[in-house]
Amino acid sequence: MDLHSIKALFLDMDGVLWHGKNPIGDLPSIFHKFQKIGIIPLFGTNNSTRTPEAYRDYLAKMGVEINSDQVITPAVGAAYLFQRDFSINARIHVFGSNALKEYLQKAGFSLVDENADIVLVSLDKEMTYQKVAVAMKLINEGAAFYATNLDNVLASENGWIPGGGVMVNAVQTCTGVSPIVIGKPNTIMANIACEKTGLHPSEILAVGDRYDTDILGGIRAGCRTALVLSGVDSKSSIACYAEQPDLICQDLNTIADQLLTERSQ
Ligand SMILES: [Mg+2]
Repeated sequence: MDLHSIKALFLDMDGVLWHGKNPIGDLPSIFHKFQKIGIIPLFGTNNSTRTPEAYRDYLAKMGVEINSDQVITPAVGAAYLFQRDFSINARIHVFGSNALKEYLQKAGFSLVDENADIVLVSLDKEMTYQKVAVAMKLINEGAAFYATNLDNVLASENGWIPGGGVMVNAVQTCTGVSPIVIGKPNTIMANIACEKTGLHPSEILAVGDRYDTDILGGIRAGCRTALVLSGVDSKSSIACYAEQPDLICQDLNTIADQLLTERSQ
């Protein structure tokens, strides 16, 4: 694949930059390579348990300096979508992390536990029966059902742990309603990446470790795509898909080296 047209990266985080608390490769050196050739890194994760500011601070601890507006979480996608499709007065019930609540509140939305226009479900490590019951009641009363993502599992430093899809399935099972999903493979977050950079999707390389979210979302948004083998998927696990990623690489460092080599030719 010719990488000369690539001007920005839309990077998944879990399985691309780190496994839980363990970085994948020498992140400062990798990002120095991107900086050297003028490639803009943007970050797009389906994980909404941290705010963009918290991701910025987390990366800083790993030696990589970025701005929080380079990070696009499902909370950023949700605020964008709700402002576009509802009004700033929309009343939102969040069954999810405090980070998600914090971001939506800062964006100007009011969060409620009754008379909601929207129910947003996400990974909640303090999931309870009562929380499922509240979400069910509000959806049955007419609230629109949104989910940040359907990820069944996510990587942690202790191995795989249940993902946001578990909470979404609970609400879906008792309501019979399917949610509108904000995270990848929905294209909302990639569209925001294009808007932020002013680039055409074909100038952005979407990099991820999962086909059904990162790669499929990138393809749908019109981006070029690269699967890294440092996370969930492998060459054999994606062999069944008709549309393949433009690149399959060992890890992010391999992509950085490939870009660097092409630019210096
Ligand atoms: Mg991932």
